Amino acid sequence: MTFKSIWLSLGLRFALIAVILVWTLTFLHRSVERPAFVQRSYCISDGFSDQEKQMIREGAAIWDYRAPEARFVERCEPNAIQVKIPFGEKRRWITSTYDHPGLWTMGLHEPATNTIWLMEDRVSRMSELRVFASHEFGHVMNLPDLSIEHPAIMNEAIRHEVETDFHLYEDDITFLCKEQACR
Ligand SMILES: [Zn+2]
Repeated sequence: MTFKSIWLSLGLRFALIAVILVWTLTFLHRSVERPAFVQRSYCISDGFSDQEKQMIREGAAIWDYRAPEARFVERCEPNAIQVKIPFGEKRRWITSTYDHPGLWTMGLHEPATNTIWLMEDRVSRMSELRVFASHEFGHVMNLPDLSIEHPAIMNEAIRHEVETDFHLYEDDITFLCKEQACR
């Protein structure tokens, strides 16, 4: 065996080991990063009209992307996410804390009470309520607010096209599949 051929075969062995190592690490990293599928239940308050309830259901259902079982199921049980309209003290707290000049809070996910608050009286169209509801369901799964540079359900402010063309956008899917397994 010449020096050159030994060098090549060693190189090939190292390359093979490197490939196996990278593949194993990638596999481990992915299984750590993507938790198992989680299904959550939610309960819509009777304060919403039938039409509003339908918008909230559609908002929750949009996240069923590549999930054989729905990620959110409507079932009123003690640990269900409560979808409510804020009144009184709660409404004063939300508006004083989260409203900004020119930017009104339309929805809020409050993890401490496992509640999605929706300001249904602030929407001008039902399709708007659907986007706000779906956005808050995204926060339930730890999805972050996204800048309005690209269209997404998780945009920090509503983009008209997301309301008229209601579906998950690329950035939504990227973050969803980071937080929860997409099969
Ligand atoms: Zn948000």
